[in-house]
Amino acid sequence: MREHFELRDTDAGGRIGELRVPRADVTVETPALLPVINPNLQSISPRRLADEFGAEILITNSYIIHKTDDLRERALEDGLHEVLDFPGAIMTDSGSFQLSEYGEISVTTEEILAFQRDIGADIGTPVDIPTPPDVPRERAEADLETTKDRLEIAETVDVGEMLINAPVQGSTYPDLREDAARHADATDLDVFPVGAVVPLMNEYRYDDMIDVVAAAKRGLGANAPVHLFGAGHPMMFALAVAMGCDLFDSAAYALYARDDRYLTVRGTRHLADLEYLPCSCPVCADHSPDDLRALPDDRRELELSAHNLHVTFEEIRRIKQAIRSGTLLELVEQRARAHPTMLDGYRTLLDHAEQLERSDPVSKGAFFYTSHESARRPEVLRHHRRLERLAVPDSLFLTEGDSSGSDRYDDTWRLLAPFGPVPNALSRSYPLTAEVPARTDAAALEAAARGVARLLEANPDVECTLGHYDWPTGALEIVPDHVETMDLAGEQ
Ligand SMILES: [Zn+2]
Repeated sequence: MREHFELRDTDAGGRIGELRVPRADVTVETPALLPVINPNLQSISPRRLADEFGAEILITNSYIIHKTDDLRERALEDGLHEVLDFPGAIMTDSGSFQLSEYGEISVTTEEILAFQRDIGADIGTPVDIPTPPDVPRERAEADLETTKDRLEIAETVDVGEMLINAPVQGSTYPDLREDAARHADATDLDVFPVGAVVPLMNEYRYDDMIDVVAAAKRGLGANAPVHLFGAGHPMMFALAVAMGCDLFDSAAYALYARDDRYLTVRGTRHLADLEYLPCSCPVCADHSPDDLRALPDDRRELELSAHNLHVTFEEIRRIKQAIRSGTLLELVEQRARAHPTMLDGYRTLLDHAEQLERSDPVSKGAFFYTSHESARRPEVLRHHRRLERLAVPDSLFLTEGDSSGSDRYDDTWRLLAPFGPVPNALSRSYPLTAEVPARTDAAALEAAARGVARLLEANPDVECTLGHYDWPTGALEIVPDHVETMDLAGEQ
C-alpha cells in the first residue's frame, strides 16, 4: 500500500490526487505540472514560479549540478531549496536523459541517489535506461533488465525521507511496458515516470503514446502516481490525464519561448504569425504582438516564457475542474479537434474504454454526446454490460417514438442512441439522462443496435419489436434476426 498518494476524484482514467512529499513537508495536488529548471540557465526564477504561478513542485537535473563544480559545492553546502530559492517540492533527474543523448554518464545509481539525498532533493531518480521507440525487441528487453536492476539497487540505498522515482521503460512494446510497470509497482519505490516518450511526442505519435501509457497503467496499482516524463505541451494534457497520468514536466515553456513560439491549448503559434493574442494572461493583457516583437531578445523570451507557463497551468486547472465535474472526456473531445494526430490519440484512448471504465464513476452530472467518438465512451460500454444482467419481460417493445399501440407487449422501453434499450427504472439515472443531438449519426445508432443485441443475446426467448426512425442498414444489421423492426417514419 502506497500511503503517500491518495485519490480524491476520478473521471475516466483521470484522477485528482494528493501526493505527500515528506521531505519537503508539502502535499502536491495532482494532476500537477513540474516546471523544468535548468540550474545554469534560469529564465523565470523558482521563487516567481511559486508565488506568481502557484507551482507546488519543480524538477531540476542533479547530474548537471553534480558536473558543475561551484554549483555542486553550493548545493552540498546550502541545500537545493536554498540554492534555487523554492519553497515547494523538488524532484531531481539523474542524468538518464544525458545517457540517452550522449551514450554514457559518469555516475552510478548508488552515487547519484546519495548525491540527490545530500543536496536535499525531495524526489530522486536512479539511472534508468531510456529506450527509444521502435528499437529491436532484444534491445528493449536487455535495456529493461538493466533498468529493473537499477530499481532494485535504488531500493537498497539509504535515502531517508526522499521519495524515489521508479521509471517504467520498454520502448513501444506494450507487453514489456506492462511487465516493467508490474516490476516497478512491486518495489517499495514511490513515483512512476513513464519514460522515453519524448520521441513519440516530437513525432506527434499520440496514438502510440496512449498505448504505452495504457500498458504501463495495467501493470501499476491504482494508487501509483504516474509521471508522463518529458511531456510539457498543454495541448495533450487532457488526453494523457484521461489515460491516468498525474504528473507532467515542462521544459517546453522556456525552450519554445527561446524560438519565439507561443503555446496554446490548440497547438503552437509563431509570434511572427500572430496579429492578435488569443489569451488574457497578464502578459497578453499588457502587450500586443507588435509590443512583444519590439522587445529586446531576453525580455521577449521572458515574457513569452511567462505566457507559455500561464497557459500551461491554466490547462491543468481546467482539467482538474473537468474531473471534478465529470466532464473530462468532453474536454478531451474538444482538444482532439485541434490536430488530426490528437484525434488519433483520442480514438486510441477509446480503444482502452474497458480499462477506463474500471475507474470511471458510475454517476456524473450529464453525458454530452459531442462527436461520433462519444459512442465508444466507457459509459456506453458499461450500459451495454448492464443490459445483460437486467430482468426482461416476455415481450418487449423498444421504441424511439412514443409507446402508443404497444398494448400487445408486456412492457415498452425507450430506445436511446448511443446506449440502446433504456429500462424504465433506469431512465432518470446517469448516463441515460444524456444530452444527445437531434440529428444523430451512424455511430450512435450502431452503438444503440449493439445494446439491443447485448440485451437479447442474454435473453434469447424474449419476443421483441424495435420501433426506429429510419435507421440505416448498418445499424439494422446488428439487431438480431428474430427482432421484428418497424420504421416509425414510414408509418406516419
Ligand atoms: Zn497569454
